[in-house]
Amino acid sequence: MTEFASLIRAVADFPKPGVTFRDITPLLADGVAFARCIDAMVEPWLDSGVQAVCGVESRGFIFAAAMAQKLSAGFVPLRKPGKLPPPVMHADYQLEYGTDRLEARVGSLRQRERVLLVDDVLATGGTLGAARNLVGQLGADLVGASVVIELLALQGRAIWPHEVPLHSLLHY
Ligand code: 5GP
Repeated sequence: MTEFASLIRAVADFPKPGVTFRDITPLLADGVAFARCIDAMVEPWLDSGVQAVCGVESRGFIFAAAMAQKLSAGFVPLRKPGKLPPPVMHADYQLEYGTDRLEARVGSLRQRERVLLVDDVLATGGTLGAARNLVGQLGADLVGASVVIELLALQGRAIWPHEVPLHSLLHY
């Protein structure tokens, strides 16, 4: 696990003063480490019957698409507003100042389809919560969620339903 951790760059005061940004791009650039990271993220879900992996724009796409291939599942993008052609449905979530929105194509998941949510980082949990809302609106069954990094101090897990498995590879 330390192998991955050494490839996550901590960037002080980005994107604004006081924030330490965890930069995953050195991990992505290391072919062996990236492959092992995907294997480790997929491992908890191998026997879960996942049929679709939903990735959150934009860094979530990178991990979700690779995981979908390993799980022989489809990939479904959950996108920032205005990126997907209509018809779309949306879920709003709180930011520190204001709100943001995720959108999914209407019909992009089937009723009762078994879905895994994937993003790079769990911080306050708002993004993953909105993604969960979309899966529910689409009538699919949420198997669980997977992130590379969980920022423990921001307590995103506290607003995640405890009965739905949430796996994180690295914790800060
Ligand atoms: P949350 O909604 O949980 O507060 O924030 C999670 C979202 O913000 C994720 O989609 C993630 O991409 C982004 N994010 C927040 N902090 C970081 C960070 O330190 N590093 C990276 N790579 N993404 C972050």
